[in-house]
Amino acid sequence: KSLPYFSRGEVVRGFGRGSKELGIPTANFPDSVVEHLPGDISTGIYYGWACVGSGDIHKMVMSIGWNPYYKNTKKSMETHVIHTFKEDFYGQILSVVMVGYIRPERSYDSLDALIAAINHDIEEAKRNLELPEHLKLKEDNFFRATA
Ligand code: ADP
Ligand code: MG
Repeated sequence: KSLPYFSRGEVVRGFGRGSKELGIPTANFPDSVVEHLPGDISTGIYYGWACVGSGDIHKMVMSIGWNPYYKNTKKSMETHVIHTFKEDFYGQILSVVMVGYIRPERSYDSLDALIAAINHDIEEAKRNLELPEHLKLKEDNFFRATA
């Protein structure tokens, strides 16, 4: 089993799918980071911890999906940090640890249904991350190592 899985990389522009307009911005990792994902990490929704640069460590949800830009032959990793930032952080280093899996990817009949599902994921992530075994990973040296 590949969890917990630690990963770090520069935040790059996504596909401009307007996640921010939905109120749920997702920070994208470059291909080089995505290519390192172990083969047994399936697509779907994960939760864990994230930090931007040397900033505070926040809860996060991450979608690992098939990347439409590459005709679904490559994966993408998109992290929504559960925190309100004053500014965008393109070009900064995002560090994450994925600690648990919520559900597989699926398509939704409406935008409202999609947003409801994501908000549900966020609540589940917040709750699960309070478990001692998960809180422990927030303190991992990974987040304090100099990148
Ligand atoms: P893109 O298609 O470029 O990924 P999004 O609409 O998904 O555009 O917005 C993602 C960007 O929003 C991130 O790269 C980051 O700079 C910024 N951002 C601001 N707040 C957050 C947050 N809480 N979680 C993730 N990204 C955020
Ligand atoms: Mg995005």
